[in-house]
Amino acid sequence: MNIGLLGGTFDPIHHGHFALAKAARDRFELSRVYFVPANVPPHKQWQFVSSYCHRYAMVALATTGEKAFVPSLLEAPEAAGSSSLPGKTRKSETSIGAANYSIDTLRRLKAQLKKSDRLFFLIGIDAFKDIAKWRESEALLRECEFVVASRPGYSLADIASFLPESLRPAAAVTKPFSKQAAIGDLAISGVTIHLLEDVHQNVSATAIRQAVVAKRPLVKFVSPAVSEYIKKMELYRE
Ligand code: ATP
Repeated sequence: MNIGLLGGTFDPIHHGHFALAKAARDRFELSRVYFVPANVPPHKQWQFVSSYCHRYAMVALATTGEKAFVPSLLEAPEAAGSSSLPGKTRKSETSIGAANYSIDTLRRLKAQLKKSDRLFFLIGIDAFKDIAKWRESEALLRECEFVVASRPGYSLADIASFLPESLRPAAAVTKPFSKQAAIGDLAISGVTIHLLEDVHQNVSATAIRQAVVAKRPLVKFVSPAVSEYIKKMELYRE
């Protein structure tokens, strides 16, 4: 079985996440894509983030009706205590609990899979840009196949330059990827990276939070259920 893992903050989950997951599902015949909200995203530890429960609830709402899309508790708080219960958004919520590192999550998921399963780590190019700074980045890249999606405003062309130095190939190998429209796969010493160049959803969670503050409609960015949840729970108002 081919399985995808899409990690993120999902604050909130939006059409960009879906475009990535759908394109990967279709290209790699994924039977399942796990959407994994991080309790404490390492790069957002000191940033305002909605409570895990809100973000997980929105992921669950958004994935309903998509058979292959599964909300995952792989990065849930160890003890989902009162601090993470839904209610009004709280400041500094993410300071509760240790940061979630993808290497640990991937290993945990792999331990639950069959040997014959093929695992794909789905990620947008904006996040992949910083992959070299991630915990055990080289081991992470060797752990499973990577699918790196395009995102408006970012280029897939210099993808090889984002790899940890120990994995960065000679310029000759990456030549095909330095074109304007980078396509195909990159395979270097045990690391496989597939490029997903057809994701063009110009949306971000940041823009959605700003839209709420500005009282603009959200239908262009999120599913109706997520939009309703944001309103009901009064998320992102300040
Ligand atoms: P924020 O604006 O708060 O930083 P975000 O919109 O980037 O959030 P995340 O939850 O941080 O959303 O992203 C999770 C994953 O989804 C990352 O790998 C990111 O690159 C990818 N992703 C998010 N939005 C898009 C998009 N519009 N197109 C392609 N990939 C995306």
